[in-house]
Amino acid sequence: MDYEGFFGNAIAGLHREGRYRVFTDLERHRGGFPKATHHSPGGLREVTVWCSNDYLGMGQHPKVLAAMHEALERCGAGAGGTRNISGTNHYHVLLERELADLHGKESALLFTSGYVSNWAGLGTLAARLPHCAVFSDAENHASMIEGIRYSRAERHVFRHNDPEDLDRKLALIEPGRAKLVAFESVYSMDGDIAPIDEICDVAEKHGALTYLDEVHAVGLYGARGGGVSERMGLAHRLDVIEGTLGKAFGVQGGYITGSAQLCDFVRSFASGFIFTTSLPPAVAAGAAASIRHLKESEAERARHRDRVSRVRAALDAAGIPTLPNRSHIVPVMVCDPVLCKAISDTLLDEFGIYVQPINYPTVARGTERLRITPSPLHSDEDIDHLVDALSTIWRRIGLRQEAAE
Ligand code: PMP
Repeated sequence: MDYEGFFGNAIAGLHREGRYRVFTDLERHRGGFPKATHHSPGGLREVTVWCSNDYLGMGQHPKVLAAMHEALERCGAGAGGTRNISGTNHYHVLLERELADLHGKESALLFTSGYVSNWAGLGTLAARLPHCAVFSDAENHASMIEGIRYSRAERHVFRHNDPEDLDRKLALIEPGRAKLVAFESVYSMDGDIAPIDEICDVAEKHGALTYLDEVHAVGLYGARGGGVSERMGLAHRLDVIEGTLGKAFGVQGGYITGSAQLCDFVRSFASGFIFTTSLPPAVAAGAAASIRHLKESEAERARHRDRVSRVRAALDAAGIPTLPNRSHIVPVMVCDPVLCKAISDTLLDEFGIYVQPINYPTVARGTERLRITPSPLHSDEDIDHLVDALSTIWRRIGLRQEAAE
């Protein structure tokens, strides 16, 4: 087999479709977010980042940095092992307590990322519950889909955010069988929010466990940052609340929370938990500091909401097409992969604005977009600059389209 030829052809196909991924080489600076230095063959340049998942800028918060420095000085760099063999550091234990408390659950279990927590957590439950049928929202994240695939459990995909479809599908399964409903609170690309209460009603009616991914909501929603389930007073109805420490909490890692028995079960059987080196203690310390801060402080969330509404209002006023939703995610719809990449390139090269194009398979073909994520640290000037730049580009596209007609 011509391996190199095969690799080259596959990559050429991505280029042809306009969805070859180019990583933007950034250097973030302590205290400088949302500005960063862009390293490119043309040299170094300061850019404004508009697509970070460090939603609240906590990755640079002084309390988080201080906690990480302190833990680094006390414990050194790595955890020194898997959780099972010498790698359970006291900072992990403290962080798990903090997480259980955040969601009002008995226990929490840490993983090295949100992806791994879904893949291993959901995957282990689906694989080990006897003859389990899994019900997965059609828009679920790749990490849940892969976890379900890995489990080899019977999978039923229900229509996105559609409790009635879920109800119909659950009704087809024998009453006594194990069932697991997996869904998200805030969907990352459209920014829409699940009807958690109705999904819980349906799951309860059919005796199914509920597994909620709150990756894009923890830290941001609820009076203590416990996510949409906290805001809606529904945390107690969810068997598993899963989240990340890498987005609003600004650090790295993932977790599940649930009953003591359920977490102990996953801890005991999930290979993605057992057979991997645990997070560095400094990372666990930083994440715990971030969670503690956001449990008490509403200031970041309030300013975040204010920035999101300002961005939305300015884009609407400028006639830039966005997808309406009730979350903090602002998708600017381009609906063409090549154009989406070209707009992103122009924003970066001409205006010093970085927004990564989002193409298939992250979103469906024909719905390519720029996913804009305002943060509390974006200034009025940053917002005006973004909207002016997009308006200029939109005018140009309009002119070009008219010329082609
Ligand atoms: N769940 C959802 C819905 C996500 O969007 C992501 C990451 N984009 C993850 C899980 C994985 O989280 P992490 O980045 O911490 O691996």
